[in-house]
Amino acid sequence: MKLDTKLIHAGVEPDPTTGAIMTPIYQTSTYVQAAPGDHKGYEYARTQNPTRNALQQALAAIENGTHALCFASGMAATDAVMRLLEPGDEVIVSNDLYGGTYRIFTKVFAKYGIVFHFVDMRDPTQIEAKMSPNTKLIWVETPTNPLLSVVDIEACATIARAHQLELLVDNTFASPYLQNPLDWGATMVLHSATKYLGGHSDVVHGCVITNSAETAEKLAFIQNACGGVPGPQDCFLVLRGIKTLHVRMQRHCENGEKIARWLRNHPAVQQVLWCGFEDHPNHDVARKQMRGFGGMISFVLKDDRMEAANQVLTRTKLFSLAESLGGVESLIGHPASMTHGSIPREERIKNGLADSLIRLSVGIEDADDLIADLEQAIGS
Ligand SMILES: *Cc1c(COP(=O)(O)O)cnc(C)c1O
Repeated sequence: MKLDTKLIHAGVEPDPTTGAIMTPIYQTSTYVQAAPGDHKGYEYARTQNPTRNALQQALAAIENGTHALCFASGMAATDAVMRLLEPGDEVIVSNDLYGGTYRIFTKVFAKYGIVFHFVDMRDPTQIEAKMSPNTKLIWVETPTNPLLSVVDIEACATIARAHQLELLVDNTFASPYLQNPLDWGATMVLHSATKYLGGHSDVVHGCVITNSAETAEKLAFIQNACGGVPGPQDCFLVLRGIKTLHVRMQRHCENGEKIARWLRNHPAVQQVLWCGFEDHPNHDVARKQMRGFGGMISFVLKDDRMEAANQVLTRTKLFSLAESLGGVESLIGHPASMTHGSIPREERIKNGLADSLIRLSVGIEDADDLIADLEQAIGS
């Protein structure tokens, strides 16, 4: 079955009692048993919930996996994956990483004796330099935030397989519409479904998808034992969101391309970061593993000062100044003072994150209106 059909139908069966075409929100904490142990596969709602089950099946299908596990947020999903590890285990991680992921690794799991090595994965040969007999997991984000670098998943998978390591790809930015990391050899895919999967800025949710029954069983144990599960209402919102993922992503990509190309010709703009440009450093890799380039764009002003960026950020009317991404409405953000504000300036600049760098999550409004909004905000 093709992705566009799976997005509508995977995991969703008419409700067995009423025939409801849309999976009901099973807002219940427990399930009645006829006699002890005589139940319909549902005992307690931390362990199983029909709304969550339907979503898990849909997510597994759209990532070309066999199993999916849902969590209360992207970070709760990350937390569950880290609990697969033991003290002393080592993880090799992209150095251009979602801030919350960096925080949970360095501030939460490092103190339980898990060791993290951060490397520039645009060059996958750097992975092997950091490897030790204790290495268990390679953790990749692609495209990255906010610099939109691209990492070659297939090259990372070749290294992971050669050393029998797990390879996890955080696929939040691309979404399953643009990229399926399991097809390139990843062993786990993680999403913050808060972003493109939910798609409407109305839910916080996370998930992990895998092709390994053994990994899925361990994660299901952690899901139940540790309890970071999403409620049925949130599962419903994600299940509804993914039914339009393809049509939304198509427009995100179209609008993203129009705006990236328009920005690049703007006299006040110094640089535009968008992996669809033919001269983007890893454009060939993006072309290989992605089916489109998405609606995430960063740009740097010629007047590279925070104050100059601030003027743009406070003048846009359609682009709302906010954290997060992937919703139908366009957002604008300033990583240096918002998501990446805790990184010392020198370190930030060294990693290529300029003072005036502005990040756009391009929504699905009319592109001409979005461009007019940016035009009046940037001025000349
Ligand atoms: C938002 C985000 C997360 C964290 O997800 P939450 O749902 O906010 O907990 C993880 N990775 C990436 C790339 C993200 O953008």
